[in-house]
Amino acid sequence: MWSRYNMLIFALVAATSFPPVHVLEFCTDRDCHSDSHDNMASSTSQLSENTFKSRWNISVSNLMQDLDKFRVSCKKLIEAFPIDEVDGNSARSVKNCIFSRSIPTPLKGPLRLAAASKEVIEGILDLDVAVTWSDDFLHYASGGRLAPGSVPLAHRYGGHQFGYWAGQLGDGRAHSLGQYTNRKGEVWELQLKGSGKTPYSRSGDGRAVIRSSVREFLCSEAMHSLGVPTSRAASLIVSDEPVVRDQFYNGNMKTERGAVVLRLAKSWFRIGSLEILSQSGEIDLLRKLLFFVIEEHFPSINSDDPDKYLVFYSTVVNETAHLIAQWMSVGFAHGVCNTDNFSLLSITIDYGPFGFMESYNPNFVPNTSDDEGRYSIGAQANVGLFNLEKLLTALGPLLSNKQQSEAKYILKGYVDIYHMRIHQLFKAKLGLLGEEEDDGHLIAFLLKIMEDTQSDFTMTFRQLSEVSAQQLHSRSFTQMWALEDLSSHKLFFDWLSMYQHRLIGQQDDSDLDRQQRMKNVNPRYVLRNWMAESAISKAEMNDFSEVEMLHYILSFPFVTQETAEEAGYAARPPLWAKRLKVSCSS
Ligand code: AMP
Ligand code: MG
Repeated sequence: MWSRYNMLIFALVAATSFPPVHVLEFCTDRDCHSDSHDNMASSTSQLSENTFKSRWNISVSNLMQDLDKFRVSCKKLIEAFPIDEVDGNSARSVKNCIFSRSIPTPLKGPLRLAAASKEVIEGILDLDVAVTWSDDFLHYASGGRLAPGSVPLAHRYGGHQFGYWAGQLGDGRAHSLGQYTNRKGEVWELQLKGSGKTPYSRSGDGRAVIRSSVREFLCSEAMHSLGVPTSRAASLIVSDEPVVRDQFYNGNMKTERGAVVLRLAKSWFRIGSLEILSQSGEIDLLRKLLFFVIEEHFPSINSDDPDKYLVFYSTVVNETAHLIAQWMSVGFAHGVCNTDNFSLLSITIDYGPFGFMESYNPNFVPNTSDDEGRYSIGAQANVGLFNLEKLLTALGPLLSNKQQSEAKYILKGYVDIYHMRIHQLFKAKLGLLGEEEDDGHLIAFLLKIMEDTQSDFTMTFRQLSEVSAQQLHSRSFTQMWALEDLSSHKLFFDWLSMYQHRLIGQQDDSDLDRQQRMKNVNPRYVLRNWMAESAISKAEMNDFSEVEMLHYILSFPFVTQETAEEAGYAARPPLWAKRLKVSCSS
C-alpha cells in the first residue's frame, strides 16, 4: 500500500495548517534580533553564554547531597500487575505476568565512573552531581547496591524482529529499579542496562560492553539536546569484568569489558509489551496493562470512554509519525526498528547500531548486520507503519468490529501525518516561512542534488543556515565544505535561484532572523560514528576525557563551540570514518 512512498520518502506533500515547530529556545529576544553582522558575532557569543548558563547552572538549592536519602518506589508497578511466580534468573518461558523479580548481578573488578549527565542527575533525579564521585554511587549505578524502595524487575515483552514474530524477548540485560518522583512531580522509571542475567536473557550473558554503553549514553543525551523525544542516561559505569563478544559475527571473538548505563524514561513499555499478551491470549492482562499505560501516561484519555483504546491508538499513531519525522530531520537512523524497540510513549529507546547519516543517502543502513537494509534511514517511516499495524493487531482482542475498522482508518492517516510533519520540519530547516505551492519541490530538489553529490546531510543544512544572503547571491562558499560539494551539481544554481527567490519573497523577515531560525534547528554537531569511535577507544583505556567532551559539546548542538571546532567535529569526516562498521553486537 505504501511502497510508492518508500523510495520517495522525502517527496513531500503540501499541508494546509501546521502546529508550531518545536525549536529549542537557545536565544533571548535580544540575541535573535540583532541587526548588523557584527552584532551577530557578538550575539552568538552572548547566546552561548546564556545558553550554557540556563542549561548547566541548574539551581542547586535543595539538591540531595546524600545518596542514602535517594528513594525509589516499585509499589505502582508491583501492585498493578501479577508478578512472575517463579524466582531466580534462569532463562525460561514466562507466562501470566508483566514483570519478573530479578536481582542485578554486580559488575566485577574495580568500577569507574566514565560519565554522568549533570542535567539528568540534578534536573531529574534531584541529586547534587557531586554524589556521582562517591564509591556508593558506583555501586548504586551498576547494580551492586539497591536504593531504598527498589525491587528490581525485568519486564516480559515480545516483538516482531526484522518482520517476523520472535516470541518472548523481555529485559534480558536490563533491570527496572523503580520509579522516582522528582520535585517537579515527574515520575521517571530508572533502569540499569548491562546489569546481568534475568529470566529473559535466553542465551545472552546479561551484560553490555563499554563500546555500546558509551554509544547509548552519548546518543540518548545528544538526542535530547537535539529536541528529539528519547530515554535519558544518568551515568555510565565501566568495570574490568571480561565480556566476550563476536562483534561482527565472523567468528572473531574478542574480550571486551562490561559496563552499565543507568537510564531513565517515563515508561519503558513497548509495542512488544502488548504484543506478547495478545499473542498468548492473556487478554485480561492485556486490558490491565493498557489501563495502566493510559492512566499513567495518557492523562487526556478518559478511562470511562468506550473508545479509549481507539483514542490511545490514534495518539500513538500520531506521535510515532512525529518521532520518525524528527529522526529524519536530524539524519538519525535507529538501526533496529523492531516492535520491541518501539516505545508506546513514542520516545527513542534501545540505542544499538544507530547512525547519523553523513553523505545524504536514503538507503543509508547504519547496522552492518542488516544485510537487506530493512532498517535503512529511508525505510523508517514505512517500518513505523508496519510496527503500528502490529500494535493494532495486539489491540485487536479489545476492539469491537466497528472500532477495528475505525482503527484501520486512523492508521491510514499515518502517511499524511508523517508527510505533513516532515514537510514542516524541512521547511524550518530551510528557514521558510508561510506556505508556497513549490515548497515541497524546493525541498525534494535539494535532497536530490544532495544525494547526487553525496553531500553531508548535517553540514549542508548547517552551512545553508550560516551563509548570508550576500554569500548566496555571490555564490561564494569558500571554506564551506558541504556547500562546495553541493555546488558541484549542474543543477545546483537552478536550485539556489529558486531558494533565493523564495527567501526574498518572505516579508518581515531579515537575513539574520532567517539565519538564526535555521541555526536553531540545524545542528552543527551530531554524534558521528567516528567521533564515538575515538571516544570509545580512549574509554577502553580508562581515559574518559573524550566521552566527557563529546557529552558536553553535544548538549549544545546548535551552538558553535571552539573545542568542537578544534576537534574537527564540524569538519569533513576523516577518511578512516568510512571504514567504520557497527553491528547489533553489544
Ligand atoms: P536489542 O537488540 O538490544 O533490542 O535486544 C533484543 C533482545 O535481546 C532483548 O530482549 C534484549 O534484552 C536481549 N539481549 C540483547 N543482548 C543481550 C545480552 N547480552 N544478554 C541477554 N539478553 C540480551
Ligand atoms: Mg531492545
